[in-house]
Amino acid sequence: AKQAYVRTKPHLNIGTMGHVDHGKTTLTAAITKVLAERGGSAFTPFDKIDRAPEEIERGITINIAHVEYETATRHYAHVDMPGHADFVKNMITGAAQLDGAILVISALDGVMPQTSEHVLLAKQIGVRHIVVALNKADAADAELLELVELEVRDLLSANGYDGAEVPVIPVSGLRALDGDPHWSAQALALLDAVDEYIPVPVRYTDAPFLMPVENVLTITGRGTVVTGAVERGMVRMGDKVTVLGFDTTLESVVTGVETFGRTMESAEAGDNVALLLRGVQRGQVRRGQVVAAVGSIAVHRAFTARVHLLSHAQGGRRTPITTGYRPQFYLRTGDVVGDVVLPEGRAMPGDTVDMTVTLGSPVPLEPGLGFAVREGGRTVAAGTVLTVDD
Ligand code: GDP
Ligand code: MG
Repeated sequence: AKQAYVRTKPHLNIGTMGHVDHGKTTLTAAITKVLAERGGSAFTPFDKIDRAPEEIERGITINIAHVEYETATRHYAHVDMPGHADFVKNMITGAAQLDGAILVISALDGVMPQTSEHVLLAKQIGVRHIVVALNKADAADAELLELVELEVRDLLSANGYDGAEVPVIPVSGLRALDGDPHWSAQALALLDAVDEYIPVPVRYTDAPFLMPVENVLTITGRGTVVTGAVERGMVRMGDKVTVLGFDTTLESVVTGVETFGRTMESAEAGDNVALLLRGVQRGQVRRGQVVAAVGSIAVHRAFTARVHLLSHAQGGRRTPITTGYRPQFYLRTGDVVGDVVLPEGRAMPGDTVDMTVTLGSPVPLEPGLGFAVREGGRTVAAGTVLTVDD
């Protein structure tokens, strides 16, 4: 029988972000290593994180690698994105629901384009707390470390974070992974900063259950399993749920709840879980749908939203958008094309405007829901749903 997950500490979702090759995956592996030595983790080596093994074994697209670990006071699920495109697509669209992030910046390179873009997008989708890992500190002198620290504090302040207050910890993922005592201690100091600086968020456990579907797998002999992070409410074995979105509405019963391979009595907002759904075929469910308490949420095609169009300097468009614009809307874990109507007929990069959107297919929507707008593989805007119709 499977082990049960015993909830003894608050659970938080965090992740690494930052420019390619600044050491996110190395640091993720190092964190699991230093904590494994204290009994708070299983060591996950670099190539296991970076290869996203599920992708190979199950033939499905997984573009987020999750690792799990515990400090003295918290239980964490930590996501490491294989690449920049995955970062934008998964994390920024809210799939990872980060309570906080570790911004990894190489002391040898300083702030690079993806460093800035990740910070900007993290702010826009509501990642409230960032801790900085000033990585490759083994290879940088004190002057360089100081310079890059100033640079990253400025970047954070410019994006609405408290750049002066944010903890900046010099680390060396590589040397901690090698077992070097000084750099292992620094990796632990980084985790102390995460424990102290990133607060346990308010969880909406009283609300009706809702979980956006991140992935769908088949477990031979048991049925269809959906995975994701619980957005709100609680779920337990035997609960009736609806799967909805993209012209699908089906009812099912949850017949198993697991987290990181262990069974759970009940899962709650913030938990990363796998739900076994009775009588559901693999082909009936997909990423972008939600699993929710029956009757608690409806799908809509039309909505109004307040949208910030990224300026060209923020990675957005150079040219205005006009009524009839048809970008891709990233809502929770899914994306769907939408037709835009603008009150004045056009809007410029850098503007914040209210717009009406009609989606190509109906998805679960409600006022307050955040989303990203992308075209041609880049993020051009971020917005919030104001009202829903029909
Ligand atoms: P990612 O793209 O941000 O996930 O970066 P990786 O973890 O794949 O690391 C990119 C490269 O930087 C690899 O060659 C690592 O060995 C190297 N690297 C990572 N961390 C450190 C470090 O702390 N010090 C040094 N000197 N090199 C590092
Ligand atoms: Mg990586």
